[in-house]
Amino acid sequence: MKLYNLKDHQQQVSFGQAVRQGLGRNQGLFFPAELPFFEDVDSLLEQDFVTRSTAILSAFIGDELAQETVAQMVGNAFQFPAPIATVKEGIYALELFHGPTLAFKDFGGRFMAQSLAAVSESDGKITILTATSGDTGAAVAHAFYGMDNIKVVILYPKGKISPLQEKLFCTLGKNITTVAVNGTFDDCQALVKQAFDDAELREEVGLNSANSINISRLMAQICYYFEAVSQMPKAQRESLVVSVPSGNFGNLTAGLLAKAIGLPVKRFIAATNVNDTVPRYLQTGEWSPAPTVATLSNAMDVSQPNNWPRIEELCQEKGWGLDTLGYGAVTDEQTAETLREMEQDGYLCEPHGAIAYRLLSEQLGEGETGLFLCTAHPAKFKEVVDDILGCDIALPGPLAKHNALPLLSLERDNDFDQLKAVLRDVQ
Ligand SMILES: *Cc1c(COP(=O)(O)O)cnc(C)c1O
Repeated sequence: MKLYNLKDHQQQVSFGQAVRQGLGRNQGLFFPAELPFFEDVDSLLEQDFVTRSTAILSAFIGDELAQETVAQMVGNAFQFPAPIATVKEGIYALELFHGPTLAFKDFGGRFMAQSLAAVSESDGKITILTATSGDTGAAVAHAFYGMDNIKVVILYPKGKISPLQEKLFCTLGKNITTVAVNGTFDDCQALVKQAFDDAELREEVGLNSANSINISRLMAQICYYFEAVSQMPKAQRESLVVSVPSGNFGNLTAGLLAKAIGLPVKRFIAATNVNDTVPRYLQTGEWSPAPTVATLSNAMDVSQPNNWPRIEELCQEKGWGLDTLGYGAVTDEQTAETLREMEQDGYLCEPHGAIAYRLLSEQLGEGETGLFLCTAHPAKFKEVVDDILGCDIALPGPLAKHNALPLLSLERDNDFDQLKAVLRDVQ
């Protein structure tokens, strides 16, 4: 698989290089130079999730990694289902929250971990270093957990993430080291940056960021769009509209890639909260990010979505006008109202999924089938959901299990020498 840098088309890399580097020169995103195409989607849709996903991903990276390797990576990464649920006649929810950290990021994060292990030189050390204000840390920790050739160090601001979130990723042990820093999230990020700027240290412990714009994440996410369609009655597969709750727009990029390689989707809807840079851009043609606003759907509080250049590139290549994308922005008040409506219809949702559902119900036409992505488990946003619906959601298995375990975090000051010592100690 060849990929090029969107900011410098001369820079071409292999899948392995793209996974290891994350970003190209000038902070450019990598994009596939060629896309596979599946003529016979029906027979692909008959396969089970892991077999089909192996076929899809092999079509991209089969020239670099053996089919058995890809099968093993997919088997290790996709150890939980992506079921659809009927919310209303002709409207389905794709539930992407059955993984260990209860959010769709488990799919991409775990496949990225597998990819990184597969493309690394066997004798080279790898230490993943990242700072988190909560969610990313959990997904990264669980994705790399138990991979003995890769060490993970996660910094977070002590006392500034929710106790439940802390339990989810600071109770693992083995190759995962979590550090509660006496400082703010910005201090944690600054420490991480300082480590990456230290060439000697970088080399010594093999620092890698497992960055969220890594192409391997998007490739994994393509697979669950196929999985959703495979579960629908055949008659409903033809005029499908898919609504995607979006922040950095990785999920929508993956959906469009699924369509580009043959999945029949009539139209996508780019659904956001009031951080609506993209909906405004689609309406007016002007890219004018506003300051980020805090909302109930906080994983989508992004006003400079970093995957957008990939969407522009893909649409341009395929000759899809941007005017074929549906879009809309939903306020907190509307989100709460929608959550209540959905509950009355018998479906318990959370703010991100509710935004996608609302725009889908508003924009779905006669004879069309709707699918919206549920990106997180309602319990992950327990306080908000309990408050809006006046309920008390039970913690699902993984959260309950970790909630009962002791915290294993180290405590350190906001001090680079202390971080360096931790990075050396974990080797
Ligand atoms: C990350 C996240 C999103 C946004 O996904 P993007 O790929 O960044 O657009 C939506 N919902 C939840 C729950 C998330 O964690």
